[in-house]
Amino acid sequence: MTTIANDPFALQDPALLRRQPYVDGRWRSGDGAPIAVANPATGASLGEVETLSPAAVIETIDAAERALPAWKALPARERANRLERWHDLILQHADDLARIMTLEQGKPLAEARGEIAYGASFAKWFAGEAVRAYGEIVPTPARDRRVLVLREAVGVCAAITPWNFPSAMIVRKTAPALAAGCTIVLKPAETTPFSALALAELAQRAAIPAGVFNVVLGDPPAIGKAFAAHPAVRKLSFTGSTRTGRLLLAQAAEQVQKVTLELGGNAPFIVFDDADVDAAVEGAIAAKFRNAGQVCVAVNRIFAHESVAARFTERLAARAAALKVGNGLDPDTQVGPLINRAALDRVAGLVDDVKTRGGKIVAGGKPHKLGGLFFEPTVVAGAPTDACIWREEIFGPLVTVTPFRDETEALRLANATEYGLASYFYTRDLGRAFRVAEGLQFGMVGVNVPFVSSECAPFGGVKASGIGREGSRHGIEDYLEIKTVWVGGI
Ligand code: NAD
Repeated sequence: MTTIANDPFALQDPALLRRQPYVDGRWRSGDGAPIAVANPATGASLGEVETLSPAAVIETIDAAERALPAWKALPARERANRLERWHDLILQHADDLARIMTLEQGKPLAEARGEIAYGASFAKWFAGEAVRAYGEIVPTPARDRRVLVLREAVGVCAAITPWNFPSAMIVRKTAPALAAGCTIVLKPAETTPFSALALAELAQRAAIPAGVFNVVLGDPPAIGKAFAAHPAVRKLSFTGSTRTGRLLLAQAAEQVQKVTLELGGNAPFIVFDDADVDAAVEGAIAAKFRNAGQVCVAVNRIFAHESVAARFTERLAARAAALKVGNGLDPDTQVGPLINRAALDRVAGLVDDVKTRGGKIVAGGKPHKLGGLFFEPTVVAGAPTDACIWREEIFGPLVTVTPFRDETEALRLANATEYGLASYFYTRDLGRAFRVAEGLQFGMVGVNVPFVSSECAPFGGVKASGIGREGSRHGIEDYLEIKTVWVGGI
């Protein structure tokens, strides 16, 4: 394994930096090809992580299966205690965890800290849900019988997570699974393994037993197939692209596994003529440029009423142009690098396409002068309807502004996408707030707010954006199976 002469991580607790899969309570030596990890802000190597062969992944699932009965049988309070301990440890080590994240993912340190706290909140929330996963007694259908409804752990779960929120997506899946009494095998994104392995280290310290939470690394398609083929895996929870989600959904059919899919988005952001335009500009900046736009709920398409479009666009362009782009470790940085060269080329390609077709660049529009993987925060006005930007998830610091005439047209434009994750609009008209919120075909609607994520609120999409909800009291449901017990002879 490669060692690094000058440790770029420089952690207060160096033991958080792990380079091996976490299997059955142990750091396991890899038997697959190692994966190299780089800092997207500098291109510098962060070293390698060891990976597992498909056979070793199957052994990991076997370990999760062996650990299941004892974990499921543990009183809910005891499972909750360990989740609370995990939550506390994550917060205690927030500075180190944020630093790991910024180094491997690129987001500004303040955003990384925010993500660590956001992720930890799911551990605490689902510790609370663990002790409230009540069953029911059905009003009896016959004098001598009773019907009980039990809510039981579904069994061994598999989880696959993306690189854009390398820590929070893991806790958001693992905490409800463990709360429900399930065991879990996680495959994090190859680009950001260190955040995942640090969470495993803390899970171990939180006395989450061997085999209950496992982290595997390796070839994604092979691991996906191993998850789908193993009879013990009763559920797959995936966050990532719609393309991969479709493939995994088809594979899950093999064993009729339950699925939770959090997939891509193509969020609209509507500014009505009665909106507070300044608040809308600030909202659009937050909902677009956080994490350099590499967010599933990031705004792709802004629609501004024709009476405010010019004013809104001018202010948005000025704010976007003033954003400080740079290395996430620099405390002044507001927009970090893109994750890799392919992501940068894709954003540049979308800009070229819209320019060629007659769209007007009003801010940014090219790779940043810093070079590397930095791209200028970009605003495009008047994107023609045949531009690729309308159909694809952008996943970069690029947004379009298009004028509209009335509410009906705004809703038609906003809903004209196969995706249905997040949507936003700004208005001060109460009636309109209800009409438009009800008319948007999206799993989440922000009315005068640019954020739609919290541990206490359901998160998820409709249409090609996914199946199921994470967070809130509904988030544990996907990890529970209903069992009906009929008792006779009473
Ligand atoms: P991706 O689908 O390429 O990868 C996501 C994960 O799937 C990674 O761990 C990857 O290794 C794995 N993977 C890829 N191919 C696989 C296969 N054949 N079998 C098994 N695993 C496979 O997506 P990405 O580019 O890493 O992430 C960005 C996407 O994630 C965007 O579309 C974004 O909208 C979406 N996302 C959605 C949410 C949400 O909650 N809806 C949250 C964050 C990101």
